[in-house]
Amino acid sequence: MFHESLQTTGRLKHTHETVGGVSDDFKRVESHDCPMSTCGAPAGSPCRTGSGKVAVQYHTARFRLVPSLAKALNVPTPAVRRPGSAWVELPRPVNAGAEPTGHVRLGYARASTARQSLDSQLDSLAEAGATRIFAEKISTRATKRPELDAAVALAGELRASGVHVTLVVHEHKRLGRGIELAALAEDLKARDVGLEFLTGELKGSHDPSGVVFTVLGVPPR
Ligand SMILES: [Zn+2]
Repeated sequence: MFHESLQTTGRLKHTHETVGGVSDDFKRVESHDCPMSTCGAPAGSPCRTGSGKVAVQYHTARFRLVPSLAKALNVPTPAVRRPGSAWVELPRPVNAGAEPTGHVRLGYARASTARQSLDSQLDSLAEAGATRIFAEKISTRATKRPELDAAVALAGELRASGVHVTLVVHEHKRLGRGIELAALAEDLKARDVGLEFLTGELKGSHDPSGVVFTVLGVPPR
């Protein structure tokens, strides 16, 4: 349902640069390690399945690290990688990880109902330079928000590796309210991850040591 509605907008198409009829996308995807803990394929190697085979497509979390593929629905593993065969680690490309890693902007988008569209949030996050966007359709009242958890976890991992990270959100209500928002602010602060709201009363970029975190970190009475 979700994918259908996104597809019909026709906005997810991206131009493929082709070399001999084969899309070059996989090389860009493979310039990154796969962030999926169940896969963890290093740069230069295709993604792998739980049973140790070459996956038929790359993990979403991995290809979304490539800005031009941030909105792609899937990136197939090319024939040259022999999808379905036993997975073996391939040599890491020399240029892997050579892209600028000084500051990473991760995006988070949420719609509270299945019918509500995420498109405008996704667009504004991409425009704001978020290179990887986590999105989910889940009620404000839901206690678990897996994509938000994944975004915070990745932000923390990246920060721990020395990269500065900002979590970019359209508006603070996307993160929840009250005690939830307070707990999240505490979590981000503990991980030294910055926060940026593109609109709303907290619009702007916030340092983890700054006043917004203090305000967010005060649980409501
Ligand atoms: Zn993978």
